[in-house]
Amino acid sequence: MPVATVELKSPKEIGLMREAGNIVGTTLRILSEHAQPGISTWELDKIAASEIAKRGAIPAFLNYRGFPATLCVSVNEEVVHGIPRKDKILKSGDIVSLDFGVIVKGYFADAAVTVPVGKVAAGVQELVTVTRQSLEKGIDEMQADKRIGDIGAAVQGWVESKGFSVVRSFVGHGIGRALHEDPPVPNFGKAGTGLRLAPGMVLAVEPMVNMGSHDVRILEDGWTAVTRDGKWSAHFEHTIAITQDGPEILTMER
Ligand code: MG
Repeated sequence: MPVATVELKSPKEIGLMREAGNIVGTTLRILSEHAQPGISTWELDKIAASEIAKRGAIPAFLNYRGFPATLCVSVNEEVVHGIPRKDKILKSGDIVSLDFGVIVKGYFADAAVTVPVGKVAAGVQELVTVTRQSLEKGIDEMQADKRIGDIGAAVQGWVESKGFSVVRSFVGHGIGRALHEDPPVPNFGKAGTGLRLAPGMVLAVEPMVNMGSHDVRILEDGWTAVTRDGKWSAHFEHTIAITQDGPEILTMER
């Protein structure tokens, strides 16, 4: 049974992930407020590090497979895994994706938002809105006895109905005692297929949506993923527990 490879979390474990998720959600709100014209992505990383430390949590991305920062910060055509830089200064009209996780008592939570900087073009705002909505559509599918493919199909269906594309090279994931656990959670797929969802599963769902083609490539820093056609990209993510009563978003400020 494929379900045997997915570790189910107890209410106590989900409680720790809720604590971690509160810190992620709170920090993302604070970072969003700081994402103004003139700030560098390096400064945003420092704010993330200090807000996490203040709350007694451990950054989950720092040193993960050698990643050099607390925060992944990806601007405009950067899709994910952007490395904070002192010379990368936000300007009005940009969009910035902020993605990070923390560890509380050995349990992880992971989330991302894309924030418009100053005043952005209408089409860019639509990309951001549709991406956030696609995550909501995916979360709506996270009911016991639905399947992994229902999540991806809902995300992809919404995104493509709006004329955008879903990145294929990066997918969501199980999360708990590690940042990335089974199962993979694609943002595309066929409804009614794949692993059956069950109470106690905790998944990070994270659609990355492009204005142009879904193709991405990795820059020479070995991390930053950018769109191959240079068109812009947005990213939203939550860590969500599947319960008897439906999905519970854990990465929320409480
Ligand atoms: Mg993630």
